[in-house]
Amino acid sequence: LSPTELKMLDAHEFATEFYHHLLVNTEDGEQALQYLMERGFTRELIDTHKIGWALPKWDALATLLERKGFMLEDMATCGLIIHKEIDDSYFDRFRGRIMFPIRDENGKVIAFSGRILNSDADEAKYLNSPESPIFHKSQVLYNLDKARASIRKTRKAVLMEGFIDVLAANRAGVHNAVATMGTSLTPQHVQKLKRLVEQITICYDGDNAGFEAAKRAAEMLQAERLKIEVAVLPDKLDPDDYIHRYGAESFTNQILEKPFAYIAFMMMHARRGKNFQFENDTFQYIHEVLGHLVGKTSPIERDLYINQLAKETNITKEAIEAEYRKFEGEQV
Ligand code: ATP
Ligand code: MN
Ligand code: MN
Ligand code: MN
Repeated sequence: LSPTELKMLDAHEFATEFYHHLLVNTEDGEQALQYLMERGFTRELIDTHKIGWALPKWDALATLLERKGFMLEDMATCGLIIHKEIDDSYFDRFRGRIMFPIRDENGKVIAFSGRILNSDADEAKYLNSPESPIFHKSQVLYNLDKARASIRKTRKAVLMEGFIDVLAANRAGVHNAVATMGTSLTPQHVQKLKRLVEQITICYDGDNAGFEAAKRAAEMLQAERLKIEVAVLPDKLDPDDYIHRYGAESFTNQILEKPFAYIAFMMMHARRGKNFQFENDTFQYIHEVLGHLVGKTSPIERDLYINQLAKETNITKEAIEAEYRKFEGEQV
């Protein structure tokens, strides 16, 4: 790390303490603290993750950073403040937001995500730090620093869409959950996970976007020969919503520990919107599923899923097997 980058890390550490102090010790933070409590955050969770509050002011952090002797230009480069060309001044990027520090895998704060209190406001619900010399969002997995020990021990991780979901999972006793920072899963994320785990449970939001994103993530991870399972949430709930509604125990027992195996998830995905009264839907479905079976399954698994295909579509098992062999031949 360059001296400038080290200064940027110092500033993030400083800002983390500043925001956290405002949340937990001051009247200004009361409303935000209340909001977090209503969402089920415990004081312990807030302290462990050093969640904070940015005042709804233009220069609270900028003034402090200047007083502490930080180079404001560098502070703008790493996104804590923003440079205003017109009068060459600086103002705070994060104002009136709950501040979630984002750490690298060694536990150093490298960025923030700030959430507005009122989701109905015109502004974006979450505001993240920009890309910077210390923050590359395509590489960061939220909570990896804290999840690492648990991930190492079990060789398993749970992958979520939202960092709020990871925090809710923590509260529910699930300590090996990580999340991307509002981006879809990248090859860098996959490589990082591959070095640490053998198995990943994907647990994305239970809406259509989450369902599609889970499919893409599952394919990327399974292409790297990781063992993939997909835990599917009902009724458009995300992990945080689900834990709220049904509790921690139900989340682990009914969702995380009852995942779809990779192929079973792909079959469910392929089946959506299809009607096996129509031959085109039937052919398309069988071909899609056979495509997933080729090269990725053992003979036993194949037998299981081909049996299921036959039952679902009313095509004989022999015909599907013959089609499978044709598929296999085309692949090699
Ligand atoms: P909440 O429960 O507070 O509404 P969420 O995690 O359910 O949060 P989602 O809308 O499901 O929010 O988004 C998942 C993730 O996508 C968030 O954790 C965040 O990283 C990112 N994200 C969502 N909205 C935005 C936004 N407007 N700008 C940037 N990132 C966003
Ligand atoms: Mn979502
Ligand atoms: Mn969500
Ligand atoms: Mn949510």
